[in-house]
Amino acid sequence: MAFAVARTRDEALLYLELTPCQDCGSNEAPWEHGLTEVDGELTISYAAVCPGCGAEREYLFGLPALETPPGSWPTFGGAEPSELLDAGQWLEVADQAAGNVPADSTEAGRVLAIARAAVEEVIKFVPAGQDAVPVDEFWTCAGRKVRDAEPGRFRLDRLLVVRDTYHELSLTTGAK
Ligand SMILES: [Zn+2]
Repeated sequence: MAFAVARTRDEALLYLELTPCQDCGSNEAPWEHGLTEVDGELTISYAAVCPGCGAEREYLFGLPALETPPGSWPTFGGAEPSELLDAGQWLEVADQAAGNVPADSTEAGRVLAIARAAVEEVIKFVPAGQDAVPVDEFWTCAGRKVRDAEPGRFRLDRLLVVRDTYHELSLTTGAK
């Protein structure tokens, strides 16, 4: 498969949010998605006209081999690790969410749900029987930067504590 797989719509939209327009830097766009065939392969296309500069933007993703059943929001994917964001990028998503929890309890619950789900995604990169995310699961500059800042954060025991903390926080904010 030529394109990185987008496991779910939540994952594709998060990836697009982290991928600003090359021409003007805007990361907002009215994305329309659909299926398209590229070299005989069915591919997911997200396309939009950038509201910042009018550029036509299009991103293509592979279809997942297995569809992820819809679960609680957000659902970034099944048990298999992400192909769109690396382990460091996922932890950064979690950090940014957890660092900006709004006062409103419903909103806070949503933000903490993102933080918890993003840490869950980091954990999926840890192979069974190993105790940390392997170095080759950091394939972007942004991701490597997060790892280099504090490699110990990608140990499984620490990731599990962080995930559980976000989960408990989301319960105490009164969110479901
Ligand atoms: Zn633009």
